Amino acid sequence: MLDKQRIEKLSDLLKDKEKGICIVMHSNPDGDAVGASLGLYAFLKENGHKHINVVAPDPYPEFLQWMPGNRNVLIAADSKNDSELAVRSASVLFCLDFNGFERAGMLSETVAGSNALKVVVDHHPQPGEGFDLVFSDTGASSTAEIVYEIISAMCGNESISIDTAQCLYAGIVTDTGSFSYGSNNPRTYEIVARLIEKGVDGAYLHRLIYSTYSEDRMRLLGYCLSEKLRVMHRENTAFISLTRNDLKRFNYKEGDTEGVVNYALNIKGMNFAALFTEMDDHIKVSFRSAGELDVNSFARRHYNGGGHKNAAGGKSYKGMENTLEEFVALVKRGSDI
Ligand code: 5GP
Ligand code: MN
Repeated sequence: MLDKQRIEKLSDLLKDKEKGICIVMHSNPDGDAVGASLGLYAFLKENGHKHINVVAPDPYPEFLQWMPGNRNVLIAADSKNDSELAVRSASVLFCLDFNGFERAGMLSETVAGSNALKVVVDHHPQPGEGFDLVFSDTGASSTAEIVYEIISAMCGNESISIDTAQCLYAGIVTDTGSFSYGSNNPRTYEIVARLIEKGVDGAYLHRLIYSTYSEDRMRLLGYCLSEKLRVMHRENTAFISLTRNDLKRFNYKEGDTEGVVNYALNIKGMNFAALFTEMDDHIKVSFRSAGELDVNSFARRHYNGGGHKNAAGGKSYKGMENTLEEFVALVKRGSDI
C-alpha cells in the first residue's frame, strides 16, 4: 500500500518547514478523524513545521476533546472566516478520513477550490476525484493506522511521540469499536503494540472516551432502547428514531447519540441496524450491519451518503414520518439492501 514513490513525494512536499499546511477533518468528526488529524498535527509540529492549521467543519463531542492539540483546532461552524482562510492560505492540504470533497461539509467548496496540493489519507472505499496524492487503504482499521504507517515510513517509529501515539491510539480504538470490528488484520495489533510501547495507557484513554457519559446522555440511551427501538424480526432489522423533541428532552449535546445504533445491532439475529436523528434541516441516518450486508451502497443509493460496508451514513430531507415509512418499505422489499 505505501509504495516508496508516494512516500518520497510526501517527504519532498514536507521538506520546506515554512510551507503552509492545513489538516482538514470530515463533517461530524469522529474519533478517527480527530485522532488521525491531531496525531499528524503533533508529528508535523514536533518536526519543525511552523504554519500548520487543523480545521473541522463542525464541532465534535467532548469525549474527543482531551487530545493534545485540541485547543488549536478551528471549527468552521464557529469561526467560518478563519477556517476558510486556513484552507485557502495552505499550500498543502491533508484530507483525513474522507475521500470526497462533499464530506468536508461547509468547507467542501473551499477545499475543492483550493490551489494547494491535496493529500488524502483514508480507508473508505471508492475514493473521489480531484486529489493529488492519495494514501488509500480500505484494509486498514482506521485512518489513524495509515497515518502511523506514513510517519514511520518517512521518519521511523522513533519519531512518534507520546502525543502522536495517544491520538492515533484513539483513532484506532474508536474506529474498531475497541477492537470488535474491522480489526482482523494482525498489522493493527502490531501498530497498537508500538503505540503502547510509547507509553499510551489504554485503560485510561478508554475511560476518557467511553466512560464520560453525562446523566442526560445515559438516560437518552435508556429511552432509545426502551421507547424508541423497533425490531423487524422477520427482516433481521432493528432501528431507532429520535425527533428534535426527544433530543431536547434529554438536553442533547454533540456526541450524545454516538454508539446508540450499535445497540440495535446487538440484538440476537439482527444483521441491519439504523438510527434516524432529526436535525435542524434534515434527518441524519446511521447504518450498521453484520456480515455481508453492504450498508455503504445502501446509503449511497438511497440517502446520498456512504461509508464502509458495515458502517455508513447519509441524510434524508423527507421528514421523520416519511423517512421511516420509506425505510421500512425498502427493508421489506429486501432486494434493494
Ligand atoms: P456514523 O453513523 O457514525 O455517523 O457514520 C458511520 C460511517 O459512515 C463513517 O465511516 C462515516 O464516515 C460515514 N458517513 C456518515 N455519514 C455520511 C454521509 O453523509 N456521507 C458519507 N459519504 N459518509 C457518511
Ligand atoms: Mn475512519
